[in-house]
Amino acid sequence: MSEWRFNEEGKTNPCLSGITNICSNGRYGDYVSYETVDCENGKTDYCSNGIIDVCKEVATECGIEFQVETASVLTTFKGGGSACVFTPECEDEFVKIYSAFLERGIRAFILGGGSNVVIADGLLGVPIISTRLLNGLKACGFGVYAECGARICDVTAALRASGMGGLEFLSGVPATVGGAVRMNAGAFNSQTADCIKEVRVLRLEYDNGGILTKCAVEQVSRDTLSFGYRQGVNAIILGATITGREMEYDKSVELSKKYLAIRAAKQPKYPSCGSVFANGEIASGKLIEDCGLKGTRIGGAMISDMHGNFIVNMGGATANDFMSLVTLCEKEVYTKFGVTLKREFVYLN
Ligand SMILES: Cc1cc2nc3c(=O)[nH]c(=O)nc-3n(C[C@H](O)[C@H](O)[C@H](O)COP(=O)(O)OP(=O)(O)OC[C@H]3O[C@@H](n4cnc5c(N)ncnc54)[C@H](O)[C@@H]3O)c2cc1C
Repeated sequence: MSEWRFNEEGKTNPCLSGITNICSNGRYGDYVSYETVDCENGKTDYCSNGIIDVCKEVATECGIEFQVETASVLTTFKGGGSACVFTPECEDEFVKIYSAFLERGIRAFILGGGSNVVIADGLLGVPIISTRLLNGLKACGFGVYAECGARICDVTAALRASGMGGLEFLSGVPATVGGAVRMNAGAFNSQTADCIKEVRVLRLEYDNGGILTKCAVEQVSRDTLSFGYRQGVNAIILGATITGREMEYDKSVELSKKYLAIRAAKQPKYPSCGSVFANGEIASGKLIEDCGLKGTRIGGAMISDMHGNFIVNMGGATANDFMSLVTLCEKEVYTKFGVTLKREFVYLN
């Protein structure tokens, strides 16, 4: 194993040094799926009145503070409500907090870069665990092991520094490793799945009565995982080993610049959660554009006049503004073309 790499802020994560067998072939057991909140019918299992109390209880038990943070710092759309957020500094802390909530029957929501999430207005009734400090990177022979909160751009930089490339197609996507693996983020006919060697997951075990009995960390080999269009690993992702392929530094930089330029020419610069709807036979943006909806504004949110599949925050947008536009697109596209749009973002409420 080679030396530690430091993230952009120049910090390293001391807790990562405890991780062993990072690049070995791990066994893939029956890990219990981690289900994210349903995009369309997102329901939480804890009422917001009690959320502060339960977070205080967990904070005391784990010895880890939480903060109430707003969507403006948690998500790239920057509009919506607020949430109680725990920010573990290492994997052990993450597991401790996640298990403490599970023991209370609550599935905490895991937030990466917040680039595919919109948080409903008001105080969220479910606690969030932010992975932003779980951002360690470590070089392996054939690539990089990245903790779940590492940003994809930092992984690309780490690969590049070792004479490798492979993730340039995600240049300009503000994703973390956990989010990219979970969503199988992709662009330009490439997808995250193509670059994964192993995924490190938290496996949960329950007894017959549904009581959590054990949390175990496991390495899952790529061969045992299945991926689809924007469908990645449905698990609690602690990190992933990303394979690189040999590439000269300048070539990698050039590729990234090329993809960034294409994005800049097609995608809006205002805050957004990326594409709102998955693409079908006909691109969703085209369907929305053909309904004459580009530039439609509700409150502070607008269907981008540059790209029909982006809803942007023009300033002061609420989650309600965003969702009103989502519903409008769905209704108009169905009425005009008989096509049911499929939501690509996660709506947390
Ligand atoms: C400007 C812009 C451009 C974009 N372009 C693209 C694109 O080209 N292609 C594309 O595919 N997407 C794109 N997106 C969408 C988004 O970046 C991706 O979906 C990305 O994979 C989300 O990563 P994230 O870390 O921000 O995850 P988040 O938005 O924080 O979370 C997304 C989902 O992943 C889950 N998750 C996050 N971390 C973990 C973890 N450690 N374990 C388990 N679950 C986890 C969350 O619970 C949630 O369900 C774009 C977004 C923006 C704002």
